[in-house]
Amino acid sequence: MAPRCRNTPSSIARQLRQEANFGCARCGCPVLENAHIIPYHITHEFPVEDMVALCPTRHTIADKGNYPESYFRQIKENPFNKIRGTEAFLIPSDELVINFGGCRFINIPIPVRLNDFDIMCIRKEFNFTSDHSILMFGRSS
Ligand SMILES: [Zn+2]
Repeated sequence: MAPRCRNTPSSIARQLRQEANFGCARCGCPVLENAHIIPYHITHEFPVEDMVALCPTRHTIADKGNYPESYFRQIKENPFNKIRGTEAFLIPSDELVINFGGCRFINIPIPVRLNDFDIMCIRKEFNFTSDHSILMFGRSS
């Protein structure tokens, strides 16, 4: 197994995330890595057409040679989240129920707030879908 190259240009990584609908092309997991369909140690490049967004678990499986190229091409063309659509975000009831950290929040749109700053926000839209955001910060040195 060749070592992974973790320096995918940000524009390529963004394009891969978008084409996979922000989830692993195989399982939909939102934790993403950028996998080379044609191994990096052969190409030494980051061709978006030869890469696919995968979760760490699927990336490891792929790096062990368990997926043929045709399978990579298939899931790149039809990623899990594209096939599943937005059903996961449909909320058919009148209540918005959020289970978080062992607590149950009912119709509370901002369950996580630091001082007066919203860290995580989930609201119900009129069309029965959820509108959610999670802010993440990195430490600057
Ligand atoms: Zn996955």
